[in-house]
Amino acid sequence: MNLELSEEQSAVRDLAASFTDREIVPYAAEWDRVESVDRAIIGKLAKVGFLGLTIPEEYGGSGGDHLAYCLVLEELGRGDSAVRGIVSVSLGLVGKSINSFGTEEQKRHWLPRLTSGEALACFALTEPGTGSDAANLTTRAVRDGEDWLISGAKMFITNGTWADVALVFARTGGSEPEQQGHRGITAFLVPTDLPGFTRTEIHGKLGLRGQATAELSFEDVRVPDGARLGEVGKGFTVAMAALAKGRMSVAAGCVGIARACLEAAVRYAGEREQFGRPIASHQLVQQLLAGIAVDVEAARLLTWKVADHIERGLPFATESSIAKLHASEAAVRAANNALQVFGGYGFIDEYPVGKYLRDARVMTLYEGTSQIHELLIGRALTGVNAF
Ligand SMILES: Cc1cc2nc3c(=O)[nH]c(=O)nc-3n(C[C@H](O)[C@H](O)[C@H](O)COP(=O)(O)OP(=O)(O)OC[C@H]3O[C@@H](n4cnc5c(N)ncnc54)[C@H](O)[C@@H]3O)c2cc1C
Repeated sequence: MNLELSEEQSAVRDLAASFTDREIVPYAAEWDRVESVDRAIIGKLAKVGFLGLTIPEEYGGSGGDHLAYCLVLEELGRGDSAVRGIVSVSLGLVGKSINSFGTEEQKRHWLPRLTSGEALACFALTEPGTGSDAANLTTRAVRDGEDWLISGAKMFITNGTWADVALVFARTGGSEPEQQGHRGITAFLVPTDLPGFTRTEIHGKLGLRGQATAELSFEDVRVPDGARLGEVGKGFTVAMAALAKGRMSVAAGCVGIARACLEAAVRYAGEREQFGRPIASHQLVQQLLAGIAVDVEAARLLTWKVADHIERGLPFATESSIAKLHASEAAVRAANNALQVFGGYGFIDEYPVGKYLRDARVMTLYEGTSQIHELLIGRALTGVNAF
């Protein structure tokens, strides 16, 4: 693995850094306060090509490799996790799934819309009764002539109320034992304006307040068979493939949060004086800063390793779990340490570290909780399924 960035990767990183400083950082606190990022950010992200990364140019993508993608998500995550999440879901979970599993027609229909920002996507796996146990989801899709009728509910769906298309996972298998669990699930690309499809915004989140998170409900939503993504009964494969890459996106975003914490804490430690000297000169404050710096570097290297494996065609699911587990816990630790450096001022909105901590907190929960990743890593090590 070469840790030196190519000219192209450096240029993408610099573009993402200046974009973040100009278009996100000045507004992040206000978006958090009003519980909505400015939707104009989607067009701006598309214009610089960030909604088309890793997608082939023939489908409107901007190309680039997965390391370039991680560099962009780190910068966006440094600015505002709510914005980073919009990209991670619409491009990372849905766009990339269409690119990997879609028919030529699906790619030509959806990818140019998603990469241009004309349309936004959401990924609808979690249900009110099934989070970690996603293989036991209960949303149903039944055949009706040439079509499918989808009924059920989805919970905590990022981009839910903003999305034009939802990648929905529904049970299509019968009652036979071999159709149960992960085997009986099929994926569908469902336009969100269809009759019977309703969306309700979830308010009062601890963090990621600027991001639209929704509950989705389906009452006999009719889609043609052409909306099916991948084979009947293979939807769980689509979901897990999406999440294996998605966890790298989350990890990259977490590196961004930890870096923002480090930069804010170092700056503040140099400015704030106690006992007649900058707090940076107190050894225990330096210990906090050093801890954050180690977390940033370690999380970044683990994340880049996933990108390297993807590019080289190597297995990457366990590496992705390791990166996501470490980076998400590191982001929470980094934000907590940064808040400690800020003392009481860290506890009020005037400074950004409180938001970093609130935003970081969900990272150990979504796209697999830390416990679920420990189980996945444990299974890869031992070959034993533990519960
Ligand atoms: C802001 C936000 C955005 C989200 N966005 C999306 C999205 O876009 N699409 C989507 O599909 N989902 C999304 N989710 C859902 C998210 O992926 C789930 O919340 C997550 O998978 C956990 O599921 P749960 O909340 O039902 O918790 P549960 O699965 O009920 O878990 C509760 C606790 O039990 C633990 N636990 C569960 N099973 C085990 C086990 N076998 N061993 C040990 N411990 C266990 C968990 O680790 C956790 O600590 C989002 C969630 C949030 C909060």
